[in-house]
Amino acid sequence: MQGILQVMTPFFYDSAIERYQFSESHPLKPQRLALLRALMEAYGLPAHLDWRTPPQIDEAELRRIHTPEYIEVVRQLSVGAPVMEAHRWGFSAYGDNPPFLGMWEAALAYTSATVAAAYAVRDGAPLAINITGGLHHALPDRASGFCIFNDPAIAIHILRERFERVAYLDIDLHHGDGVQWIFYRDPHVLTVSIHESGQWLFPGTGFVNELGEGAAEGTSVNIPLAPYTDDAIWWEAFEAVVPRAFERFQPQALVLQMGCDPHYLDPLGHLCLTAQGWLRGVQWAKSLGLPMVALGGGGYNLTTVPRMWTLAIATLIGVELPNETPETFTWHDRIPTLSDHTLPSIDPADLEFARRYAAQQIGFWQRYWG
Ligand SMILES: [Zn+2]
Repeated sequence: MQGILQVMTPFFYDSAIERYQFSESHPLKPQRLALLRALMEAYGLPAHLDWRTPPQIDEAELRRIHTPEYIEVVRQLSVGAPVMEAHRWGFSAYGDNPPFLGMWEAALAYTSATVAAAYAVRDGAPLAINITGGLHHALPDRASGFCIFNDPAIAIHILRERFERVAYLDIDLHHGDGVQWIFYRDPHVLTVSIHESGQWLFPGTGFVNELGEGAAEGTSVNIPLAPYTDDAIWWEAFEAVVPRAFERFQPQALVLQMGCDPHYLDPLGHLCLTAQGWLRGVQWAKSLGLPMVALGGGGYNLTTVPRMWTLAIATLIGVELPNETPETFTWHDRIPTLSDHTLPSIDPADLEFARRYAAQQIGFWQRYWG
């Protein structure tokens, strides 16, 4: 029940993030955030949120996860200073992460919003959101997959100051590898990732046998899925594995990564989810009632990202929106509704393969847990 005394959800947004663009042609387009804001405003959603610009952060927040050498390299490249062997740190002109001027400020923009959200939850807020965060591939000393700083890992580190056991749930198209490796030997952090299998997609990891090490064995849970996985198969795999992993671990707080690139229209992968199919993962996470830091993530189709994140944010804060987008929304013609009414058409043989592949992963977890 929503009483009038209910505190509004802190929503951290630093508009400097709209300068986070590796290059003109890079698939990570800041326009996706401008469109998201426009759609949220057309729906009047900001009035339901405590919309704030995050305060600047101290470099110590980055050092929770990243090495001082790497932090310095990002700072140098950001001002155009020459860095020997920048590729060793994951940066190269022709790779996924070409260095760009101002990338220090741009990376701090999403990281500081996540840090602020994590402090809000650590200090008692039931939920805080940074939809510009969720850059799950970065490693302690390496940029990877468009990610410079690993803000979900920093959030987990902050939540651990108050909560003994913290869970990380990642519903992005891609395996949440950076977060997994960072906490691979930490029994206090459960990482769960459901994604397109590394057999076919970057970063090439996220298989069921990546279980965690030592005392942390069993706290790394992966559900790799095949190309053409649809809503029904994705949800069947999710439901068979994720609730059980959470039940066994008994987390006290949650970091949710809501990458929306599993959508069938997304150009980077081959999963075939609809907005409403993917949203079930968000609904499930909310139903846990755990203190939660909710982050964004991948998502590269301009007609899907704004509506999927609008749906996700509305779901998390318990606001119901009419499915038809407001006429005042500038892209109303291109995004007429929040949910999908056209479903992906999938070859029955591909669907059957995806079903069998998912069943194998579910089977692994059933045997592992007994
Ligand atoms: Zn992704």
